[in-house]
Amino acid sequence: MVKAKTIYNCQSCGASHPKWQGQCSQCGEWNTLVEEVLAPTTRGVANRKAFSEAQLKDRLVSWSQVKAKQGDGERISTQIEEFDRVLGGVGGKTGIVPGAVMLLGGEPGIGKSTLLTQVVLNLVRQELSGPIFYVCGEESPQQIDLRINRILIKENKKISKKNLTFITTVDVDELVEIVKTQQPSLVVVDSIQAMTTSDLTGAPGSVSQVREAADRLAKVAKRLHIPMFLIGHVTKDGAIAGPKTLEHIVDAVLELSGERTGELRLLRTLKNRFGATDEVGVFRVDEVGLAQVNNPSEFFLEHAETAVPGSATTCVMEGTRPLLIEVQALVVKSQLAMPRRVGRGIDLSRIQVLAAVLQKHCKQPLGSFDIFLSAAGGYKVTEPGVDLGLAMALVSSLKNKPLPQGSIFIGEVGLLGEIRQVSYLDRRLKEAKRLGFNQIYFKQTHRSVRELLGELKI
Ligand SMILES: [Zn+2]
Repeated sequence: MVKAKTIYNCQSCGASHPKWQGQCSQCGEWNTLVEEVLAPTTRGVANRKAFSEAQLKDRLVSWSQVKAKQGDGERISTQIEEFDRVLGGVGGKTGIVPGAVMLLGGEPGIGKSTLLTQVVLNLVRQELSGPIFYVCGEESPQQIDLRINRILIKENKKISKKNLTFITTVDVDELVEIVKTQQPSLVVVDSIQAMTTSDLTGAPGSVSQVREAADRLAKVAKRLHIPMFLIGHVTKDGAIAGPKTLEHIVDAVLELSGERTGELRLLRTLKNRFGATDEVGVFRVDEVGLAQVNNPSEFFLEHAETAVPGSATTCVMEGTRPLLIEVQALVVKSQLAMPRRVGRGIDLSRIQVLAAVLQKHCKQPLGSFDIFLSAAGGYKVTEPGVDLGLAMALVSSLKNKPLPQGSIFIGEVGLLGEIRQVSYLDRRLKEAKRLGFNQIYFKQTHRSVRELLGELKI
C-alpha cells in the first residue's frame, strides 16, 4: 500500500510545513501544527484537456455586461444601522455588496448566529429577487425556527415564510450545486467549520477542509453575484481554524466580540475590500437577540460611578466615532515582593509604563502597591488616548480622593510624563460637551500629568 503524503498545517496561521515542529516558524505559535493528508484531488492535470470552448468563453466578461449584471453596485441594506455601518459603503449607501463573501468570526456563544438570523429576517422582509438560504451545519431547522419565533414575538411584525429556505447539508460540493441551480439572493453558512468536501480526507474543522470549503463557496458567490455570510468560530487562543486561515479568500472579515457574560457586543471589521476597516458596530444583548446601541457613549457611562475614588472618564475613538467610557483603578498596598499589575480590557504593558511614569515624574509611590485597572462595560481599550484617564484613575485610587464631578481626561501620556496630542480631538471634545462634561483636560489645558495633579490637588 502506498503511504499517503501528509503535510503539517498550522492551526493558527494556516502555514504548511513538510515536517512536524514544536513551534510554527511562520507565526511563532507553539503546538499548533496538525498533520493532514494531502489527498490527490480529482480536478488535476488529467482533466485539463476537457475544457470546452464554450466553457472558456463563459470566463470572458465584457465590461458592458458587468454594469448590467451588478446593478451599478447597489448595496443591500440589512436595516440594522450598526451592521450596515460596519459593512461600509460610499455616498451614504451602506450594506451588503452583491457577490461579497463575508466571514463573521467570534467565540462560540457570542451571538454570531443570532445576529445573522436578525439580518436574514430583515432581508426576508425586503423580498429580494430570490430566496435566502440558511445553511444549518450546526443546528436543525427546528432550532433555528425557535430562535426566529422568539425574535418575531419581540418585534411583533408579520413576515412571509416562503422567502427563507433552510439547507441541511454539510457537504460543500452539494451546497455549491444547490446554489448554482436555485440562484438564491443571499446565503448564510452556519458554520464554515462544519462544511467539508469529500475530495479531502481531513476532519471537519481542520484548516484544509475549512479553507477548501470557503474557497469553493467564494468562487460560486463571485460568479453568480450572490452575497454570502460565513460564520467562523474562533476560540480564545485561536486554536481553531479561524479568520486568519480564510482572510485571503473572503472579501470582508467581521469580528463579533465581547465578554460572554456581559451585555456588550462589538462588531468590527478586520478586513474589508468594500469599505473602511476601522468602523465598529455596538450592540447589547437583550432577551431575544442583539439590539443596536444608537448612543454608545451614554451606554458606557450609564452606570458610571462619578465622584468615587478610582474612577475617571475618558474618550476613545472607534473608527470615526468618539466613545466616552469610564475607567476604574484599584490601588492597594501589596503583600508581595513583586506587586501585581492586572488589567481587564487594558494592556498590561501600558499599566506598567503608566505606573513607572507616575512614580518617577509625579512622585506617586506605586512601586509598593498592587494595581488593578479595568474599562467599564467589558470594553477593550486599544488606543493611547486613554492614558491620561488611566493615570488619573490610578492616582485617585492611591490617594483615595475622587476626581472632580463632570471632569474628563483625554490624552496620551509620554515617558517623560507629558500629555500628548490625540487624533480627532475636536470630535472627542464635542462628544464630551454633548454629554455634559464641563471640565475637559487635555494637552492644551495642561502640559504634563504633574501639572494637572497639582492643579486638581490630588
Ligand atoms: Zn503558524
